[in-house]
Amino acid sequence: MRKKSQLQVEVTCDYCGSKTETFVATPDHLRFCRIQTPGKEPEKDCMTDYYRRKNNVQKKEIEGIFSQEKNSLQKKEEVKLTDRTTALKKLEELKKFLNTKKTNHPS
Ligand SMILES: [Zn+2]
Repeated sequence: MRKKSQLQVEVTCDYCGSKTETFVATPDHLRFCRIQTPGKEPEKDCMTDYYRRKNNVQKKEIEGIFSQEKNSLQKKEEVKLTDRTTALKKLEELKKFLNTKKTNHPS
């Protein structure tokens, strides 16, 4: 059996995934390991790394969304043009369906 200390809290770092007892918690409940000797540069500071990476990712994501939107808009235009007759037919079918529903269930 492994003896567990009651005082030390061990958490999993949300950035590197390693277990640590020296960590910082953010307001949005993320925990990052931080190994730092007072008065010195931090040996490990996953919070800084995490937010640095997050900012980079967000920039890339935003760029990606923009290009995706462009693509889907173009696709939508094509669908509109080719499926106009099909859409009208579907609409007629729907109208018929609603009418029969009405007559079958008078209220
Ligand atoms: Zn970490």
